[in-house]
Amino acid sequence: SADPAALPNSPHARDKAYALHPYTNARAHERRGPTVIESGKGIYVRDDQGNEYIEGLAGLWSVAVGFGEERLVEAAAAQMRRLPYYHSFSHKANNPAIDLAEKVASLAPAGLNRVFFANSGSEANDTVVKLLWYFNNARGRPQKKKIISRIRGYHGITVASGSMTGLPWNHRDFDLPLPNFLHTACPHHYRHAWEGESEEEFASRLAGQLEQLILAEGPATIAAFIGEPVMGAGGVLVPPRTYWQKVQAVCRKYDVLIIADEVITGFGRTGRMFGCELFDIKPDMLVLSKQITSSYLPLSAIVISDELYAGIADNSDRLGNFGHGFTTSGHPVATAVALENIRIIEEDGLVANAAAMGERLQAGLGELRDHPMVGEVRGVGLIAAVELVADPATKRAFDPLGKVGAAFFERGHGHGLIVRAVQDSIALCPPLIINAEQVDEVLKRFRLTLDDTY
Ligand code: PLP
Repeated sequence: SADPAALPNSPHARDKAYALHPYTNARAHERRGPTVIESGKGIYVRDDQGNEYIEGLAGLWSVAVGFGEERLVEAAAAQMRRLPYYHSFSHKANNPAIDLAEKVASLAPAGLNRVFFANSGSEANDTVVKLLWYFNNARGRPQKKKIISRIRGYHGITVASGSMTGLPWNHRDFDLPLPNFLHTACPHHYRHAWEGESEEEFASRLAGQLEQLILAEGPATIAAFIGEPVMGAGGVLVPPRTYWQKVQAVCRKYDVLIIADEVITGFGRTGRMFGCELFDIKPDMLVLSKQITSSYLPLSAIVISDELYAGIADNSDRLGNFGHGFTTSGHPVATAVALENIRIIEEDGLVANAAAMGERLQAGLGELRDHPMVGEVRGVGLIAAVELVADPATKRAFDPLGKVGAAFFERGHGHGLIVRAVQDSIALCPPLIINAEQVDEVLKRFRLTLDDTY
């Protein structure tokens, strides 16, 4: 077919002329131009050149129910006709937001019963920081403000959430992290364990490092620890089985609250409704987004503990207002879509499907372990990664993976599979509706792409 960018008024040419793309090398984009995705159905999307791809990352880890789900379209349209917008300031409420708050509270771990709505994961995590500060000021602990996250953790890109993120290119030249945002070690056994160190020993060592950090800074200065139950953008890192229990014990010892960022793991991704269930994490706040609406519309939610709520509520009473909220907090259309989306997840048994199809996916990927480019295969449920190495014997990484990752990405397109390079790994995270035949097709296309990149 003709070069789409050659036509001066083509979408390709205009995108190159006018857009600054998130997470894209802008100069490379001026040369390459966009892949314009025009439509989607189930696990597939189609570009404007007629190519069909399996969306192996469910968009950005997010389209749980797949593309083209008419029930979500209908839910949005019906709500738009009834009430397309209203806000939640000054005692105003709308029915979808009320229903969704109740639903999310009922699903969330015990003791988390209050829901605040925002639009993105980043906004939710910025809100988390502000709630912690507000709460500790209210409780007469103005020193207790520092937040610990992990190297390679991902919590977003706004000023506070980007400070919690532990990835270099979210910091470099953006003047992040801000002071008082601390980073502790990443629980990636394959990369960071000592020679001969078991997963259990590694987990104990990391919990010990966390404790040392808290003691060095002073426990009275540490407000919270935030982490993804399973790290996503950092490379799909499933921690050692006992890691969270050990971390949790350290946090409780020093009155450090635990924030579970379930923006990726929430709503069934790991084969459980929430990633917290995998490791028996008992968070003080739960952060949700992405699969809450299957990303058909932007929405995020924070679910907070009764104790945090009590402190925040009292302080708003003392000050006369809770001075935080977005124009679109509790947006009726986004919350209506979320309700219908969660209904589909429940009615169609998509959490159980993620567990069953996840086993098939993980087993299939496991067969790649002997491939000369593969260092490690890991994952849980329908989220997985294959860590690529230049030399499996020494674990020498591609330096940088950037080039290999980009080649993998492009070759994957050639084989009709969209995946994503995350750090040293290629991530897979297909829609939760995927069936066995489709999992096998993902595996087949993944292997073809791998062989092609080798
Ligand atoms: N937290 C986690 C765990 C994420 O994976 C992401 C996005 O990928 C975010 C927060 C930020 O969400 P958003 O991109 O909607 O701001």
